[in-house]
Amino acid sequence: MHKHTIIVVGAGPAGMMAAIRAAQLGQDVVLLEINPILGRKLLLSGKGRCNLTNTSDLDSFLKRFWGNGQFLRDAFKKFFNRDLMEFFEKRGLGMRVERQARVFPVTDTSSSITDVLKKELEKYNVGTGFKPVPTKTCCANGKVKILYKTSARDVIVKNGAVAGVTVSGAKFMPADRVILACGGVSYSFTGSTGEGFKIAAKLGHNIVPLRAGLAPLIVKQDFVRDLEGITLKNIRIKFICRGGFKTRPYRDSRRDSTMCCPYKTAEKQIVTPVGELLFTANGISGPLVLTHSGTIGDWLKDKGNIYAEIDMKPGLTYEQLDARLLRDFKLNARKALKNTLKEILPLRLIDTCLEVIKIDADEKCGQVKQAERRQIISFLKGLRLDITSVARIEEAMVTRGGVSLKEINPRTMQSRLVKGLYFAGEMIDVDADTGGFNLQAAFSTGYLAGESAATAM
Ligand SMILES: Cc1cc2nc3c(=O)[nH]c(=O)nc-3n(C[C@H](O)[C@H](O)[C@H](O)COP(=O)(O)OP(=O)(O)OC[C@H]3O[C@@H](n4cnc5c(N)ncnc54)[C@H](O)[C@@H]3O)c2cc1C
Repeated sequence: MHKHTIIVVGAGPAGMMAAIRAAQLGQDVVLLEINPILGRKLLLSGKGRCNLTNTSDLDSFLKRFWGNGQFLRDAFKKFFNRDLMEFFEKRGLGMRVERQARVFPVTDTSSSITDVLKKELEKYNVGTGFKPVPTKTCCANGKVKILYKTSARDVIVKNGAVAGVTVSGAKFMPADRVILACGGVSYSFTGSTGEGFKIAAKLGHNIVPLRAGLAPLIVKQDFVRDLEGITLKNIRIKFICRGGFKTRPYRDSRRDSTMCCPYKTAEKQIVTPVGELLFTANGISGPLVLTHSGTIGDWLKDKGNIYAEIDMKPGLTYEQLDARLLRDFKLNARKALKNTLKEILPLRLIDTCLEVIKIDADEKCGQVKQAERRQIISFLKGLRLDITSVARIEEAMVTRGGVSLKEINPRTMQSRLVKGLYFAGEMIDVDADTGGFNLQAAFSTGYLAGESAATAM
C-alpha cells in the first residue's frame, strides 16, 4: 500500500471514524476541527445518552432512510451495527439494547463514546511535530495529528485531483486525499455551520436543498403555550392533510408544449403507532412528531391544510370512554369536574381542556350534561392542532438534503467529480428516523471513506 497524506475535515463521528480507519491502515492523517473539543454534537446525542445505533437487520435499517437508504448498502456491508458495537466493546465500553432495538452505552453518557474515540485517536497521535511523509510504502499504523480550532476554507484541486486544503489564515496544507465530514446545518453552535456545503459547491458539487429533518412542529392554537413541558405517554397521532396542491405536467395541444398545472391532491393521512408526545412553547415534539416532520414539511410546501388529531386514550373506544366518564361522574357527583378529571388527564391539561370546550371547571360532576361529556371525549380522543410550519432547521436533529448522491460513488464515498475527494456523514444527502440510524450512517460512511482514501492508488 502507498503512503498518502489524508486530511479529514470535521471531528464528528464520521470524521473521527474516517481518521481512525485510515490510520489503522497505515496512513498519516491530519484531522481538522473548528472546535477545541471532539464530537460536540455527538455529546448532545440521545439527550446526552447517545443512541449509538440500532440492532435492526440491514433491510429494515435501510428503510428508515426515507428512500435514500440504498445508497448506504455498501457502507453498511463494510461496517454495520454489530461492528460498531464491537468497536466500543473491545475498547472496554459495554452496550445495552433498549426498546425498539435502540443501542446505548451502558454508562448512559455520550461522553463515554467520545472518550473511546479520543483515546483511539490518541493512540496514533503525534502531537504537534507531525510531518507528513507522502510517498513511503507502509504497513504499520499511520499517524494522526488533530488540529483543533482550525477551520477548513477550501479544498484545492490541481488537474482534476485534490492537492490540499486551505485553512483559516489562508494557510495551505498539502494532501493526497481529503475527506469532508463537516456535518449538516442544524444545531450550528456545535460547529456544523454549513461550511462543508460551500466548499463542496465550489468544487462543482450539487447540494440538494437543505431542510429540517426530525424537527418539532409549530401549531396555530395559542393554548399550547400553557402546556409547554407536558409529556403525554401512550397517545396516538393522526396527521391529516386536506386540499394540498401539487403541480403535474400536462400537454397543452394549442401550444404544443408540456406545461405545468396545479391540481388538488386527495386527503393524505398518517396514523402513528402509540407513543409519546411533548408540548413545546409553540407546538409539539417527541418521537412520533419528529419521525413525520419531514413528510409534514413536504405537505406544507404543497399548501395543504394540515392538522394533527391527538388521541390521548387510544386504548379505549369512544363508547368505552363515555361509559368510564359516566361511571366516574356518578361516583363523584358532588365533586368539581376539574378534580375528577385528574384521574385521566395531567393537571395542566385539565385547565386547558375545560377552557377550550368552555365548561366551568367547578361544575359538579353530577350536573355534567351528555353534550358536555361528549365534548370532553372529543378533546380526549381527537384534540385538533393546526400545523402552521416545521421548526427552523437550526432546531432540527438532522439536516435533510446535502451533497447529491449522484455525485458520490457509494462503494468508496469518493466524489465522482474530483479525484481524491471523499464525503462522510450528514453532509451526504441521506438522513433517517430517530433510533440510532443517523449515527450509524455517520460512522459507516466515515469508516468506508477512511478505508477507501487509505487504499486507493
Ligand atoms: C440534539 C441532537 C441529538 C441527536 N441524537 C442522536 C442520537 O441519539 N442518535 C443518532 O443516531 N443521531 C442523533 N443525532 C444526529 C447525529 O448527531 C448526527 O447525524 C451526527 O452527529 C452527524 O455526524 P457527522 O460527523 O456527519 O457531523 P457532526 O457531528 O455535525 O460533525 C461535524 C464536525 O465538523 C466540524 N466542522 C464543520 N465544518 C468544518 C470546517 N470547515 N473545518 C473544520 N471543522 C469543521 C464541526 O465542528 C463538527 O464537529 C442527534 C442530533 C442532535 C442535534
